[in-house]
Amino acid sequence: MNLFHFIIISNTIAVSVLFLGLAEGDRLLDIPCKVCGDRSSGKHYGIYSCDGCSGFFKRSIHRSRVYTCKAAGDLKGRCPIDKTHRNQCRACRLKKCFEAAMNKDGK
Ligand SMILES: [Zn+2]
Ligand SMILES: [Zn+2]
Repeated sequence: MNLFHFIIISNTIAVSVLFLGLAEGDRLLDIPCKVCGDRSSGKHYGIYSCDGCSGFFKRSIHRSRVYTCKAAGDLKGRCPIDKTHRNQCRACRLKKCFEAAMNKDGK
């Protein structure tokens, strides 16, 4: 191994370590919303959740909303709640908030 090769290899290692470090850091900061899987903005009502879900939960609790799932048959109460579908069924979204242990006294 001559000096030229040594420089190439040590640069490659340095770059890999840097990338691994960034990926690790990203994962720590990027905790998904427990309700819809979107990027959370920290803990709200006791769980990691996005602004959308925490706002939705807040509105639902404060106004004592009761939602009804409009899906029929086997799908009733089982609507997919993710980033794209979270606004489609408020009943299932609120249910998922509770399932994820969201609570109005949580911090
Ligand atoms: Zn969410
Ligand atoms: Zn539903």
